[in-house]
Amino acid sequence: MTNIDSFVERDDVDALEIAPEAGWNALYLDGEWVAGGDRDAIPVEDPATRSTVTTVPHATEDDVDEAFAVAETAQEEWAKRPPQERAAIVSEAGDLLGSYADDLATLFALECGGVQLKADFEIQLAQGTIDVGAGLAMRASGRHKQSVTPGKENLVVREPAGVVGVITPWNFPLYLTSRVVAPALALGNSVVIKPDEHTPVTGGLVLAKVFEEAGLPDGVLNVVPGYGDEIGDHFSGHPTPSVMSFTGSSEIGRRVGQHAVGSYTEPALELGGNNAHVVLEDADLERAIDAGAFGSFTHQGQECISINRHLVHESLYDEYVAGLADRAASLPIGDPLEEGSLVGPVINESQRDKIVGFLEESVERGATIEAGGDHDGLFVEPTVLSGVSADMPVACNEHFGPVAPVIPFESDEEAIRIANDTEYGLSGSVHSTDLERARDVADALETGMVHINDQPLNDEPHVPFGGVGASGMGRYNDEWILEILTTTKWISVQREPREYPY
Ligand code: NAD
Repeated sequence: MTNIDSFVERDDVDALEIAPEAGWNALYLDGEWVAGGDRDAIPVEDPATRSTVTTVPHATEDDVDEAFAVAETAQEEWAKRPPQERAAIVSEAGDLLGSYADDLATLFALECGGVQLKADFEIQLAQGTIDVGAGLAMRASGRHKQSVTPGKENLVVREPAGVVGVITPWNFPLYLTSRVVAPALALGNSVVIKPDEHTPVTGGLVLAKVFEEAGLPDGVLNVVPGYGDEIGDHFSGHPTPSVMSFTGSSEIGRRVGQHAVGSYTEPALELGGNNAHVVLEDADLERAIDAGAFGSFTHQGQECISINRHLVHESLYDEYVAGLADRAASLPIGDPLEEGSLVGPVINESQRDKIVGFLEESVERGATIEAGGDHDGLFVEPTVLSGVSADMPVACNEHFGPVAPVIPFESDEEAIRIANDTEYGLSGSVHSTDLERARDVADALETGMVHINDQPLNDEPHVPFGGVGASGMGRYNDEWILEILTTTKWISVQREPREYPY
């Protein structure tokens, strides 16, 4: 079971200190680190070198059944724990994550190609969501309601939902898993995590480790790594969970939602985006370019809230393209473990090929590459394209790469029309020196989130996060996820004898 050493095959990687006695080559079931035995293995491959850094057992459908069964049993006692106790354990897990920050940064680099800057963001986000999540334990409350029936008292009691299934992607694995796990546990639920196959450690096993260290009772949190197309349907359609939280692509999210509903499980779906960065004619150009570069190239553009399209007023277009191209060309590309790298590799070959295909097809249809455009292994250069129309593959698809297609527009109305011409509706941004005008455009954008004079990459643990249309259902963070992770029960008390009609 102990194979942490397999993470340190490369000479340049310092030995990891995070719980070194814990083998990552295990499932986490009912408080036990279960060795792989004759289960298949999932190789975890470093996107920078393509070397296998460890393997993790592939959970079977029986493992999924066992995880949900033990979670269901453990939840009853966990929900009875006083809220302070639940909050304290969740907070302690957050503190432990902070103390492992350096090792986590190495793990992010090895599992998903994240550079140090991205690791810093992710740990900050994870700790923020854990802090706010822990606080929900004391904030879950019910209500007293008047009654239309004489002599009756109505109580609305809030209870934990029960067992929560959590499926997460590889791009911000620790954070995206923590933002459900922390509030779910604080509110008295138990959890089963199916992390992404690229990131079984940072997307699941690390959380099992810190919650175990923090004193979470056995069975309340379980981790079953596995390929989505092998155990995903069994997991998402399982009859035990009350909530199925899914973060990932819209295509798989729709499927997961349908399976969940088929089992009377409430789906909570955080899905893809095609976010527009809208630069109006009166924008501060330098600010718009700064924001545009950060929103497009951070973590190689692999965020649901990355800028997918830059919409720029025709009067600023040439200057904007030139400025963005300069920024793109200046970003240091390199192994995330090398100091100073700002752009690491994309996650895998199929993702790279998809990005390159969109680029090639768009160039064939008349777009011009102004910076980047090339790749080496999984390192795709930050790329800026001009002469892009909204229907080109690089603009009308979620490209999920370090790619910035720039589309000109003539009027605010046209910008709004282009921005909304997508099935997605996650995030976006608007630049203008006239805040009223920017507000009008922000109001007209059909998204769950819009940021004025910034870029779409924003997430704060106490502010609602989520999208409309193909970008998902439900809102995460704070009181919005509290609603998802709890249920209400109407209890009425007939305090005086009631007069019935017969
Ligand atoms: P994906 O949908 O391919 O995979 C996400 C998860 O779903 C993984 O754990 C995967 O194993 C699992 N999965 C795959 N097939 C499944 C099935 N049939 N049943 C159940 N689970 C299955 O997504 P991805 O490509 O890894 O991640 C990128 C996508 O995630 C992008 O579209 C991005 O926008 C989106 N995303 C959304 C948010 C958000 O908060 N809205 C955050 C991050 C990423």
